[in-house]
Amino acid sequence: MTMLYPARCLACGAETSHERGLCNDCWKATYFTTGQVCDSCGAPVHESVVEPCYCDQCLGSPPAWDRGRCSVLYEGVGRKLALLLKHSDRLDLAPEMAKWMHQSCRPILESDIIYVPVPLHRWRLLRRRFNQAAVLAQHMARINGSEICVDMLHRIKSTAIQKGMGRTARFANLSQSIVFNKKHLDRLRGRSVLLVDDVMTTGATLSACAEICRQAGAEKVNTVVFARVARSE
Ligand SMILES: [Zn+2]
Ligand SMILES: [Zn+2]
Repeated sequence: MTMLYPARCLACGAETSHERGLCNDCWKATYFTTGQVCDSCGAPVHESVVEPCYCDQCLGSPPAWDRGRCSVLYEGVGRKLALLLKHSDRLDLAPEMAKWMHQSCRPILESDIIYVPVPLHRWRLLRRRFNQAAVLAQHMARINGSEICVDMLHRIKSTAIQKGMGRTARFANLSQSIVFNKKHLDRLRGRSVLLVDDVMTTGATLSACAEICRQAGAEKVNTVVFARVARSE
């Protein structure tokens, strides 16, 4: 059977027959988090006999959420895809990225979960026109047939650029700027939340969101991101 339009690689546009949307070269330059991973953030860890296991960063400062997964490392083509989605309006990438995220977080999917995207500030939302975390969460919730609440959390003021800020300063800065949308209080109480974001760096934003969901009555808070920045802080 001849296809009218050959499939194109999502990352470079080359013709491809690869089923997961990338050509072979891009596939090889995508660092999927396979094998044993940190139960808190999903980063690959050295083989361990103890389960669950944690990466050094999560052991050093445990995040505020329960369990977490990521699909790829924020390098090579994984980084490229995250940037294309965020800055180049490549919304066509979201379904495939969400599929990968769904695969990655299968081991930590609770029953009866509610998907909650990390919020973007209103001004940024106006400039960018969409919240990439919400788009990913919407696709994921659809795959899983689960509930989603895109405005469970809000940013009330623009967060100052975080580069160069220490971990504690970042956290303080963020906890003041993310608030819970009180109209959803009944919806959240006793539920399991799956926080969704595109990229995780230190985890400060996700921790702030997790803390707020817990205070608002969530029973459990897990996280999933598309790409995890490997870092040593
Ligand atoms: Zn390619
Ligand atoms: Zn970790």
